[in-house]
Amino acid sequence: MPDLDPLPTLRATFPDLSEEELATIGAVTRGRRYPAGQMLCHEGVCEETFYIIAEGECAITQRIDDKGGERELRRVGKGSFVGEIALIQNGPRSASACTTRATRVLEIDKADFVQLLSRSPHMALSIMRVTLERMRENDQAAVDDLRRTNQTLQLLDRNKLDFIQVAAHELRTPITVMKGSLSVLRADTAVGGNPSLVRILDSLAKGTERLHEIVNTMLDVTRIDSDRLRIAPVPVPVRSLLNDIVNRVKRDLNERDLTLTTEYAADLPLIHADQTLLQKAVYQVLLNAVKYTPDGGVITVRTHGVMLDSGEPGIEIIVADTGIGLAPEHQRLIFEKFYQVGSVALHSSGKTTFKGGGPGLGLAIARGVVRAHGGRIWVESPGCDEQALPGSTFFLQLPLHPPAPNGA
Ligand code: ADP
Repeated sequence: MPDLDPLPTLRATFPDLSEEELATIGAVTRGRRYPAGQMLCHEGVCEETFYIIAEGECAITQRIDDKGGERELRRVGKGSFVGEIALIQNGPRSASACTTRATRVLEIDKADFVQLLSRSPHMALSIMRVTLERMRENDQAAVDDLRRTNQTLQLLDRNKLDFIQVAAHELRTPITVMKGSLSVLRADTAVGGNPSLVRILDSLAKGTERLHEIVNTMLDVTRIDSDRLRIAPVPVPVRSLLNDIVNRVKRDLNERDLTLTTEYAADLPLIHADQTLLQKAVYQVLLNAVKYTPDGGVITVRTHGVMLDSGEPGIEIIVADTGIGLAPEHQRLIFEKFYQVGSVALHSSGKTTFKGGGPGLGLAIARGVVRAHGGRIWVESPGCDEQALPGSTFFLQLPLHPPAPNGA
């Protein structure tokens, strides 16, 4: 089979180069034919060849996950080249290249390629231009992909929230029926006089109350997430709001032998906030401190006035625990809906038992409420360690006055 004359291909690929320069390149090329499906470049592997396509076509792909999923960046044909980036960088291939049909190529070995680049600024520039243009196209394609993926995720999220809303509404009716029936039974003297029946009724009532709370949390999260959260600000005395919340968990604290201390600044300013929502947010954070601190631990609730990053005055509420702590990689994600650290199957059940599993909505609700008030919430922890118990500290910062609706 006659060897491929490299010059017509080189002229098409590098139209700016002189015949002499093209001849120099031609002298170090090797013509090759490959069938369809031949891998020329392997992503992540250090290889030694630069390819110019004389005839045929190559698909350039990149891996997008560990399960073999890949994304096609582009197809290149006659006059295009592949494999230059890794050779210039002296590193592994950044993408794979595979022929899609019978293809003829000109190959240049790495050593010759590098020498050609250093000898011919013309060729170096020409390759650089094409490479930069391609990178720009890759960036744009990646941004377009991200945009599409984001739209799909938003749609899926919306569907999930719609489902949760329907499920929560459907569950509400039977729960109300159960609660009503329990009250009727309680009022029955035959039942009231029977201690073992009363015990059964008590545990039924507790279970029903827990179900009711979970359903309410499901509804809260759908409201918070759909931007329908309207706050009704009123002047709120933070000290008594915090005391109310602390009182709500007092029984759990005793059962779990946890100590709770409060440190409120004396000159605490009054804030304007939606009292019910703010109570929900702080309650979720405090409940978590109870859940993720082993028996005998200490929880501290502090509050004081602060100057916010925006320059406005505000207050800061801090809930610190001596619990298992949180690894840095989870510290942002725990505020997303349904996000839980570790396997859900390993959680124990119960609202305030140590590591008691919840639906993974508490902090999403807390963040939604804080954001609706124009504030921010975050956590700091040296890491997660169930033996050393480094603890977690949650910060909630809120302006004294929430922003006006719709930025008005
Ligand atoms: P859940 O219903 O699982 O408690 P949350 O949204 O309230 O959902 O919390 C999300 C996750 O954040 C929890 O599953 C837990 O792993 C972690 N987390 C929250 N608070 C703490 C804390 N005080 N200490 C350690 N981990 C925490």
